[in-house]
Amino acid sequence: MTTKTSLTHLAYRSCVDAIGDVLGENGKKSVLRFAGLGDMIENPIDYDPEERVPYEFVTKLFVGVRDILGDRGYEAVMYRGGAFAVKNIVKHSQPLQGLIAMDFDPVEKLKLGYQAYVRNAGYDPEKTLEYLPENKQIINHRPDCTECDEILRIHGGTKVFTKPSCAFIRGLLKGIGDCFEKEISVSVVEEKCRLLGDPQCQYRITYTLK
Ligand SMILES: [Zn+2]
Repeated sequence: MTTKTSLTHLAYRSCVDAIGDVLGENGKKSVLRFAGLGDMIENPIDYDPEERVPYEFVTKLFVGVRDILGDRGYEAVMYRGGAFAVKNIVKHSQPLQGLIAMDFDPVEKLKLGYQAYVRNAGYDPEKTLEYLPENKQIINHRPDCTECDEILRIHGGTKVFTKPSCAFIRGLLKGIGDCFEKEISVSVVEEKCRLLGDPQCQYRITYTLK
């Protein structure tokens, strides 16, 4: 992960908030303390959509949640964290509110939403998004998925995963689709994951017009 692809303060804070939302205030404090992020209890990061947190803040949080809650707990909390983060991001972003309210083809709006997210996350939409209109699907390719980087580095091939586990990004992608829920519904599956030895994490978004 580079600075460019690290999380914004807004996304990071929303993720921490979501942990509190699921685990309660005390649960959140325990996670932060355990992850070596205890300072954040007194001085929480703000909701700035531009500033980015240092790389190690992200990995400490991701690894801390996984160490405390186990892989299944991690997936449940972080999936919700991703979806919650998008709601918060929209609350703080006029351009996104404008896009959601725009009178325009809903599939095109959905594509614009994913492009904006991918660009903001530091990636090239042209290289990472693939459109399959005949299947009503969009694929997001993440050969350098930031969510599993640290787990791969720490555990290498020693930790056995039996299914994809990058739940925060899956939640983010679901949350983006849900922005357009008046017109469209989406489901998101992570169908390839580097934690399983795949060369990339790959998310398949399937949409249905309402
Ligand atoms: Zn993955």
